[in-house]
Amino acid sequence: MREVKVTPIKNGTVIDHITPGMALNVLKIIGIHDTGVQSTVSVLMHVPSRKVKWKDIVKVEDRELDKDQLDKIALIAPDTTINIIRNYNVVEKHRVEAPSEVVGLVKCENPSCISNKPREPVRSRFTVTSRNPLRLKCHYCERELGDIARNLL
Ligand code: ZN
Repeated sequence: MREVKVTPIKNGTVIDHITPGMALNVLKIIGIHDTGVQSTVSVLMHVPSRKVKWKDIVKVEDRELDKDQLDKIALIAPDTTINIIRNYNVVEKHRVEAPSEVVGLVKCENPSCISNKPREPVRSRFTVTSRNPLRLKCHYCERELGDIARNLL
């Protein structure tokens, strides 16, 4: 299988080895529709990969991601690698890793959970009960989260 050559970027972040089909969720996480974003984002979907067979890639020019964004990506695409690019060189490369406790990043699916009451200023809180596949359990109502991508905050 042919490895796709990705056009290099001068500065920014290459989000590589994204689980195929998750690129659009990654775009949602990094907030490309937010006002004030002044950089180019390119997306490659369903690219052949030696390592994981198929992958998506997102390249974000002139930006590095914050911790919440990296943690959210880890929740929906655990094989993702983050490459920080400065002056066309990869200065940092690491795999995303979900925190053992996930606070304020995803919403509980249980409508009567205390974390979903509009009057209670309680941040959602989940414990990681399994890493492969990733499973999250609500700290308050103990319900397991079924669809992580759909419940990202
Ligand atoms: Zn809950």
